[in-house]
Amino acid sequence: MPKVVCLCKEVINLSDIPSPNQLLMIEDVKYDKYFDSIDAEKLYEEMTLVVRCQNCKRLYVYENGFENDPLIYSLDRPE
Ligand SMILES: [Zn+2]
Repeated sequence: MPKVVCLCKEVINLSDIPSPNQLLMIEDVKYDKYFDSIDAEKLYEEMTLVVRCQNCKRLYVYENGFENDPLIYSLDRPE
């Protein structure tokens, strides 16, 4: 997953590991299973990958994996 081109034309670089442009999101219900013992690898598999554009703050939520189209969220009131 090298990069994503944002709708604002910003090229979002994802080559750094870990990446400052990548967020990991998890449902509270799923996270609760890891409360007592965290297995970082298993927890990572449960995470929804979110890519953030530093320029316009859009979020690209890959709910069905990076190979499928993301849901795209943008600010109601841009800064
Ligand atoms: Zn953008």
